[in-house]
Amino acid sequence: MYDGHVHTSYCPHGSTHPIRAYIEQGIRLGYKGMTFTEHAPLPEGFTDPVPEQDSAMKKHRLEQYIDELQSVKKEYRDDIAVRIGLEVDYIQGFEQETKAFLDETGPMLDDSILSVHFLKAGGQYTCLDYSPDSFASLVDQLGSLEAVYDLYFSTVSASVKAGLGKYKPKRIGHPTLVRKFHKRFPASFPILPKVTALFESIKSENLSIDMNGAGLIKPLCGESYPYFSALEAADKMGIPLIYGSDAHAPSKLATGAVTLHKRFQPAGPEAQ
Ligand SMILES: [Zn+2]
Ligand SMILES: [Zn+2]
Repeated sequence: MYDGHVHTSYCPHGSTHPIRAYIEQGIRLGYKGMTFTEHAPLPEGFTDPVPEQDSAMKKHRLEQYIDELQSVKKEYRDDIAVRIGLEVDYIQGFEQETKAFLDETGPMLDDSILSVHFLKAGGQYTCLDYSPDSFASLVDQLGSLEAVYDLYFSTVSASVKAGLGKYKPKRIGHPTLVRKFHKRFPASFPILPKVTALFESIKSENLSIDMNGAGLIKPLCGESYPYFSALEAADKMGIPLIYGSDAHAPSKLATGAVTLHKRFQPAGPEAQ
């Protein structure tokens, strides 16, 4: 089993457990490997819209993060494959800054994820998954729930097509994150056509998908990102699906893995 989406204490909204605690828990769970994908520092000039301004790693900690991962990667190499990565935000309007960051940092990374957490609406950015209240403010601002879904999917689609250079991440993070609070905001319109249109562009850019278990334990979500029928569609299209716990604490490693394994058996050669 491989976990391609793991956070650390370098992320200010996570827990304070040391990286070794994640690795040792991974070994206990029988992981063959794991990629640490801390939230990359946000681009200069972008103001983190969440109240605590803690969405991502601070820039001055990046070097230490990579140094520490390089040393544990060697230390544990006989027990587990540790890969060095980042979860990079795609923020509309900050493509150049993001490309410059990737050009500089990419050579030190083994693997990474490109994710959309921030949506630009009415000239300002909102963190889509911060809270049901922030989500409600997006629905108000855009006039309907469907408009939020459409803005989310068009932003993820823009991330898929964005020219972010040779170190652009190869995997799209949790591509139905817009459903994090869907039990409070039930959709009365068809979603799968929007999702499959996005998957077409993921397929044509030869990217893979973060098959993310975190939503399964979120009370207002209760489903993986993507949800099961969307995963089936992606698998039929031949898109590689890479499991990710999105753990922000060692105890959250393997989140949703058993459920995903029971409900969904990917046929693709690269699925883990
Ligand atoms: Zn996080
Ligand atoms: Zn994320």
